[in-house]
Amino acid sequence: MSIKTINPATGKEVKSFDADSSEEVNSKIEAAHKAFEQWRDTPFEERAKHMYKQAEILEQDAEKYGRIISLEMGKPLQDAIAEVKKCAKACKYYADNAADFLKDEEIETDATKSIIAFEPLGVVLAIMPWNFPFWQAYRFLAPALMAGNVCLLKHASNVPQCALAIEEIVNRAGFPESTFQTLLIGSKEVNAVIEHPYVKAVTLTGSEEAGSKVAEKAGKEIKKTVLELGGSDAFIVLEDADLEQAAEVAVKSRMVNSGQSCIAAKRFIVVESVADEFLKKMKDKMGQLKTGNPLEEKIDYGPLARVDLASDLEKQVAASVEKGAEVVLEGGREDRESAYFKPMILKNVKPGMPAYEEEMFGPVAAVMIVKNEEEAIAVANDSRFGLGGAVWTQNKERGLRVARRVETGAMFVNALVASSPEMPFGGIKKSGYGRELSYLGIREFVNQKSIWVA
Ligand code: NDP
Repeated sequence: MSIKTINPATGKEVKSFDADSSEEVNSKIEAAHKAFEQWRDTPFEERAKHMYKQAEILEQDAEKYGRIISLEMGKPLQDAIAEVKKCAKACKYYADNAADFLKDEEIETDATKSIIAFEPLGVVLAIMPWNFPFWQAYRFLAPALMAGNVCLLKHASNVPQCALAIEEIVNRAGFPESTFQTLLIGSKEVNAVIEHPYVKAVTLTGSEEAGSKVAEKAGKEIKKTVLELGGSDAFIVLEDADLEQAAEVAVKSRMVNSGQSCIAAKRFIVVESVADEFLKKMKDKMGQLKTGNPLEEKIDYGPLARVDLASDLEKQVAASVEKGAEVVLEGGREDRESAYFKPMILKNVKPGMPAYEEEMFGPVAAVMIVKNEEEAIAVANDSRFGLGGAVWTQNKERGLRVARRVETGAMFVNALVASSPEMPFGGIKKSGYGRELSYLGIREFVNQKSIWVA
């Protein structure tokens, strides 16, 4: 894939970029390593000063940067602006807390003094996706820079202007030169970066396939990885749920980012006694959503980020329907050349169908009707993914009990699944490993060092 901005709302190419040559990539890696030698010893207060400045820039220029996001990947402008502002929160959170999260831990042993120290690793490579092109990058870079690491960002090939804008913001915030750099490279060039001896660790957010390839290479080089991959989150509706509220959040959760979110609700597992009523409410709400040009109109959802993604989703729907899934809400694509995809609801979704087995990265809700709580948990766990999930019941104790039994990295009771700086984010099973955000996230790319003084 070449590196260019194609506006998904119009299909028009806006700008294309020359990829960095291997010499350019090497000199960026060397510059990063050199920057690390200073940055690792920079006090937390100094790092925080730049991080607060960065938060200020993100807040002040949220609209400017939001427009770049919407232009490149099609999300409604108000959502893009909110995304930029959320990045400011992550910057502030780590500026406030990094020193505390990484302070020495004194441990009682036979030694006169024994401590666990948290030291930066060096150059960390981040491979990031287009769906939240700012947020995904910031939830890596804010803790990484505060920990004293330096960063290289290989962003998705369809969001080069976002990648360059992030580099610009870091520079505007006064971080020393080369502490954060964007590599304009395609995925084929990533292996050479992982191999480079100065590159110490890799994090990837994206598909299972990309994660597996990157982890394979990093494994060969014995370099630490964090993988945040796909999800097929369950949204369990029990018979004692507040159906109105559940249906409202169900639609919101499925439609987050036009359906292109790893933690969007994708499998709606509904107890049969309330299934008809819940489905009717969901269909009414989903059918009313408005689309249009994300930069020109106030809309609920935009086009998908690329035409090929719309076409992949269309194939998943067609294969599921062929295997017996029933269309409750008609939608899909009206034009084969377009990235627009109208929301759909499928029911009678069964094992063997793509809607059951795979991640559906777009506005298609897969509904499964079950007899009771026990079956709901079994269906929720019958997935190779394990990222997030939600359960709806007016009995909070019951909600908590179900939440503990669903095999995922996060469960929400009566709430929309979302990431926030304070709570760890990441998956189990094929959704990946390692954690971002919270104090756990900043401890991923540090040397957790034992120091023993006899
Ligand atoms: P990819 O996983 O292919 O892309 C994500 C990032 O990984 C991009 O920067 C991409 O670079 C890079 N990449 C891809 N393959 C490799 C590789 N072999 N080695 C190194 N880097 C690689 O996602 P797609 O854009 O193709 O989307 C496909 C599907 O992935 C979606 O439909 C969805 O199911 C899932 N996905 C999940 C996301 C999540 O948040 N969990 C985010 C995005 C996608 P480049 O763009 O240059 O190929």
